[in-house]
Amino acid sequence: MPVTPAEQALLEHYVKKILAAPVYELAVHTPLQPAPALSEALGNRILLKREDLQPTFSFKIRGAYNKLVQLTPEQRAMGVITASAGNHAQGVALAARELGISASIVMPSTTPQLKVLGVRNRGAEALLHGESFPFALAYALELARQTGREFVSPFDDPEVIAGQGTVAMEILRQHPGRLEAIFVPVGGGGLIAGIAAYVKYLRPEIRVIGVESQHSACLQAALAAGERVSLPAVGTFADGVAVAQIGAHGFEICRFCVDEVLTVSDDQLCAAIKDIYDDTRSITEPSGALAVAGIKHYVAKTGARDQVLVAIDSGANINFDSLRHVAERAVVDVF
Ligand SMILES: *Cc1c(COP(=O)(O)O)cnc(C)c1O
Repeated sequence: MPVTPAEQALLEHYVKKILAAPVYELAVHTPLQPAPALSEALGNRILLKREDLQPTFSFKIRGAYNKLVQLTPEQRAMGVITASAGNHAQGVALAARELGISASIVMPSTTPQLKVLGVRNRGAEALLHGESFPFALAYALELARQTGREFVSPFDDPEVIAGQGTVAMEILRQHPGRLEAIFVPVGGGGLIAGIAAYVKYLRPEIRVIGVESQHSACLQAALAAGERVSLPAVGTFADGVAVAQIGAHGFEICRFCVDEVLTVSDDQLCAAIKDIYDDTRSITEPSGALAVAGIKHYVAKTGARDQVLVAIDSGANINFDSLRHVAERAVVDVF
């Protein structure tokens, strides 16, 4: 898929960063687990990459640690500022505590309480600001300018992208055999950029398929426009991916490495949370179930059979109270 030598060089640059990322000082290797009921229902072999099993219950710890560990001693002494919908916040809080760095984290006022507590309990400062991520982001950038502290983007940073890319490194080692496609949830595009760079460099025949909430489909919009666009509004049910504009660094890769982007509804996410529960007895947050919802949509649309399809199960940070709503909506979805 990379067509020009410059694109090939960009991928090689990221693959080297991914291979060198010291994420396992904090992150763990997660299982690539078969989903037998889903596989049976869909007539394809579905494997779940269990990133909900990371410390902090999402993959974000990979990118956050890889970024913080590479700061200069001066930057570390100053401390960091970040904006996050909640999971990156917890990753930064844990990584900062581990490295002895002070961290201030701006989150939207709509952030689920358990994500806010996840930050405060790890010793970081949590500031609630704005209705959704774009407002929190603007405020955090302003604070960073005022204080001179390093801003740590949740997705738009090469070190963060490389940290997230270690997910793909594990998948290809865990499953060296035939593999048709990897489905990746997309918010700001850090995860899919890291995964796509690694996969397209080493196994370009594997399809990398992005899955977005239909209420925050900023990668699909950017690919259609040929440039990054800012969505006028974003829905926050899938709060982990409620981003209005795809990151610049990520888009540079996604532009030529992502085969397709699908969008799914909130009801499809609720149904996918149930599917994952049925196969694993684990609960996922709405964003965490995007990839499984995407696989169901893809199989229905293409009639794919007997393929090996991987879904990134990206996070599990959902308020317990929200489960009532999820359970109600899960029965509404019909494919
Ligand atoms: C952040 C996040 C995503 C999306 O990752 P991006 O790098 O922003 O595209 C998906 N799922 C969960 C649970 C997340 O926290």
